[in-house]
Amino acid sequence: MRLAIISDIHSNCEAIDNVLEDMNKIDKIFCLGDIVGYGANPNYCIEKIKKIKCKCIAGNHDFGAIGRANIDYFNFEAREAILWTLHKLNKDNINFLSNLGKKIIIEDNVFAVHGSPREPIWEYILDKNIASLIFKNYKFKIYFVGHSHLAGCFSLDEDNNQIEYNALSNDGCIEILRKKRYIINCGSVGQPRDGNPKASYGIYDTNLKKVVINRVSYPINQTKKKIINAGLPRVLAERLSIGR
Ligand code: ZN
Repeated sequence: MRLAIISDIHSNCEAIDNVLEDMNKIDKIFCLGDIVGYGANPNYCIEKIKKIKCKCIAGNHDFGAIGRANIDYFNFEAREAILWTLHKLNKDNINFLSNLGKKIIIEDNVFAVHGSPREPIWEYILDKNIASLIFKNYKFKIYFVGHSHLAGCFSLDEDNNQIEYNALSNDGCIEILRKKRYIINCGSVGQPRDGNPKASYGIYDTNLKKVVINRVSYPINQTKKKIINAGLPRVLAERLSIGR
């Protein structure tokens, strides 16, 4: 099976449209949360997720936008966008976000959460220390995560107990080896922060045992204009051009 992994769309309709167009021969799509927040098209993005019937879990911005996460935990711009989103969402879409779970079982020993297995909504896995705790305390072959907006992979070699990190900001492929375990972030669709402004998503091929990261162009200037015209903080538009 070919499984697509998308995450952190952040109300960016141009990015999600181009990512979905880029996919081919996909059996199933999984969305790892943060459909909304930051961008100007929250309802459109939620409706798209409903339409493609993908399996979706919640991110911190999704819960923030429906009042289920304390917005004091967000920085100023994120908070402004969450309050803006709160007023824009229609009832059906609020309902959709409030019914999202926190964890997906993709297949035997392969799971997905927005943040980390021990704190599915909030925790970032940004360094080898945290990755090492996750490898030690949870049983899995692959954990797909989102949240940091950085495409990359932590792998643990069980022969020598070494953890490696590979950044995947310019496409890339992870071969799933028998002796290794993996924490994989396929990057962000709608607000990449790994220095590459192109939208990011992954394909997990369960037969070929590999995960391929794809980067996709989209009309960034159009997205930026909408963010500015909506009265959202300007920096949320500007960061899209640099992918930070
Ligand atoms: Zn996010």
